[in-house]
Amino acid sequence: MVKWVYGFGGGKAEGKADMKNLLGGKGANLAEMANLGLPVPPGFTITTEVCTYFYANGETYPKELAAQVDAALDQIGKLTNKGFGDTSNPLLVSVRSGARASMPGMMDTVLNLGLNDETVEALAAKSGDRRFAYDSYRRFITMYSDVVLGIEHHLFEDILAEHKDANGYNLDTELTAEDWQHLVGLYKQKVQDESGKAFPQDPKEQLWGAIGAVFGSWMNARAKTYRRLHNIPESWGTAVNVQAMVFGNMGDDSATGVAFTRNPSTGDKSLYGEFLINAQGEDVVAGIRTPQEITEAARKEAGSDKPSLESAMPEAFKELTQIYGKLEKHYRDMQDLEFTIEQGKLWMLQTRSGKRTAKAALKIAVELASEGLISQEEAVLRIDPASLDQLLHPTIDPKAERKVIATGLPASPGAASGEIVFSSEDAEELKAKGRKVILVRVETSPEDIHGMHAAEGILTTRGGMTSHAAVVARGMGKPCVSGAGSIRIDYAAKTMSVAGHTLKEGDTVTIDGSTGQVLQGQVRMIEPELSGEFGTLMTWADKVRKLGVRANADTPADARTALKFGAEGIGLCRTEHMFFEADRILAVREMILADTEKARRAALAKILPMQRGDFTELFEIMQGLPVTIRLLDPPLHEFLPHGEAEIAEVAASLGTSPQKIKNRAAELAEFNPMLGFRGCRIAIAYPEIAEMQARAIFEAAADAGKKTGKPVVPEVMVPLIATRAEFDLVKARIDEMAAQVSKEKGVTLEYQVGTMIELPRASLMADKIAEGEGGAEFFSFGTNDLTQTCFGISRDDAAGFLATYTARGILAVDPFVSIDRDGVGELVRIGVERGRKVRPNLKVGICGEHGGDPASVAFCHEVKLDYVSCSPFRTPIARLAAAQAALGKEVASQA
Ligand code: PEP
Ligand code: MG
Repeated sequence: MVKWVYGFGGGKAEGKADMKNLLGGKGANLAEMANLGLPVPPGFTITTEVCTYFYANGETYPKELAAQVDAALDQIGKLTNKGFGDTSNPLLVSVRSGARASMPGMMDTVLNLGLNDETVEALAAKSGDRRFAYDSYRRFITMYSDVVLGIEHHLFEDILAEHKDANGYNLDTELTAEDWQHLVGLYKQKVQDESGKAFPQDPKEQLWGAIGAVFGSWMNARAKTYRRLHNIPESWGTAVNVQAMVFGNMGDDSATGVAFTRNPSTGDKSLYGEFLINAQGEDVVAGIRTPQEITEAARKEAGSDKPSLESAMPEAFKELTQIYGKLEKHYRDMQDLEFTIEQGKLWMLQTRSGKRTAKAALKIAVELASEGLISQEEAVLRIDPASLDQLLHPTIDPKAERKVIATGLPASPGAASGEIVFSSEDAEELKAKGRKVILVRVETSPEDIHGMHAAEGILTTRGGMTSHAAVVARGMGKPCVSGAGSIRIDYAAKTMSVAGHTLKEGDTVTIDGSTGQVLQGQVRMIEPELSGEFGTLMTWADKVRKLGVRANADTPADARTALKFGAEGIGLCRTEHMFFEADRILAVREMILADTEKARRAALAKILPMQRGDFTELFEIMQGLPVTIRLLDPPLHEFLPHGEAEIAEVAASLGTSPQKIKNRAAELAEFNPMLGFRGCRIAIAYPEIAEMQARAIFEAAADAGKKTGKPVVPEVMVPLIATRAEFDLVKARIDEMAAQVSKEKGVTLEYQVGTMIELPRASLMADKIAEGEGGAEFFSFGTNDLTQTCFGISRDDAAGFLATYTARGILAVDPFVSIDRDGVGELVRIGVERGRKVRPNLKVGICGEHGGDPASVAFCHEVKLDYVSCSPFRTPIARLAAAQAALGKEVASQA
């Protein structure tokens, strides 16, 4: 018989930690905690296979399920000495979802299930607290109605608010047992009115309703969005966890809280968390009451006058501390725990690997390795390369003036400026127009995920460090300030006001997610300093990676950044990027628009010293590390003069009329500049351009070599070739220049000439291009152009329709972001194979944007490239991704 239900409790469990696929993350961990002998309220898990069955069979259950659930309920009853539906000693349960991967806030939870008009009286008698019993009952009705019956939560909130107003109450705590009992009556009436049926009194009916709702919520819109954003397959399904209730709201010796075994923001090795006395779990997460600190140290630091758990409940605190240590050792990772203290007794409700900032992840991984809990390789594998981006985010310049409008909690580090918007829809809309926004909400909910994605940062006026906004923003690596309580938001007027000052939609603010400050206007930012742990982890990564990592750097500043981030050379210097500045672009325009060789040579003479100066500086900075310099490859439309003023300027400089320049520009204008007169085609039509560049490179190499005492071996790269003949023509010019400079300077010059592989034909002809003495000595795959030409999609025009392609799943990812392994990747494979066949020591790299994308780096490792080259800020990401690839980390297939 198929086992659909797995029980746990009383120091043992039928499941264990490695059964996540079957039991979901929560279920597997509850089982594991029970096996470890930790105090876990008994319960059972209905497997993810039931979810699969449910959707495969018209939303029905396997026939054995009911009996297995009954047996498991009986078992809980035995362990707790209670009975489900028993009118004198009722067992109450929670029903929660639990997928394989954690999906915070995505699925629904029902607490206090099993209460009805009779069992509530029993609970009152047992606990000696009628108020508690009826409060529990009304919470249950609200949650159950919302999650299972689809009756909106706010309808009940309205009834409550009305009752409070009528009786002059401000806080929920002022309501008496009679108030709650009265409200329970009104709530039940509301259910009858809204659904046309009475609120279910049969606990079994309640239970099956809740189970169905959990399975149903697997397909709700929020869950679908979350899965799409996190690449979680729909086929995984969710498990359902049913567990005996324990109450953190049974008086002042009861409490509930969440805790991390290390600080999830900084990674510091200190107990970290929040709790509330006399409250249920939802109260902590909802952020309605401001939670208290767990440790005395944290309380002091926060300057709170409310007691810490350490001082309020020392016994439970002590036990919790022991459990912390035990769990971290067992799971060999920082854990995120949920606990409840019921009348002094500690219960563990959940443990899982805690979400953390990139900064904390680094610190924790390095420290766990140093503590011997994990190996260095494991530490390297634990950091998501893409998350390193977070460490490279700007922070506010300490010298900048700060006009602090309000202060909230430092919920997610980094700083951001933007126009304020008050809804996720507005955030998305403005983002689409290229604007930067800060999403301002009272609190966020899973419905706001898309707006949070669109925003630069998030500001909420309610909620703690574990509120939805804080947790989700941290996961996204976005700055967030939460719980800035002094700010009042008026959604209707689209304004926020604080201390008599009102800001409206569109006004600019800056939030500092590291201090919790909200600042007026745009504030100056600075680049981040990297921590010692960053360096350590990078050293560990460097030890294992096989791929070299270079940077695409065009300027001395780029080169310095590249070195700072550990680049081992420059894989691409785009020489045309050296001419974007106003004083230089004129000379380039002259060169492009000159209609005689003489005029062109005159322009080139102006450019030569600039080029030589740039190259000398680059070579000096790189101190003998390889530098690949690409000959000019300007898409013409980027360099042609546009307005009248620009045209007049070029005409004056060339000593000709504006009309002539206009005519020449019209002559040069192209329908498809990306497939036009660019790359080596320019060097072939105007060899003097290639000659000037080669001369500049070799003169600079000779000069820098002398100056630094280290030989400079430039790698000269020919762009966009399709045929061997093109390569030969350009290489002949380069060789000639090298010979000339060598003679003039009286030095021997060492250099290599290679090519970019950016066209399908070049990949297919790779053997022809590399073969023989005069063949290309290195290849660098220009996968930007290779993607463009393989797909026949213009790099400049793709954005408009590619989004539709990815949204509709026609393409899994944007192929300009992550390499298309099947198509473009095949061209790379072919190029590498054919090139190396004729020239076994052929150096092969990649310099398209893919060089900094972790999945593409893994691909480059697989096809045995020598190096990847990416933008300077992404070199750490590439180093880590390369190390993970070498350690055999599986990368999700893009297909
Ligand atoms: C490429 O095409 O991948 C490349 C690196 O060159 P560019 O982006 O300058 O065309
Ligand atoms: Mg290119």
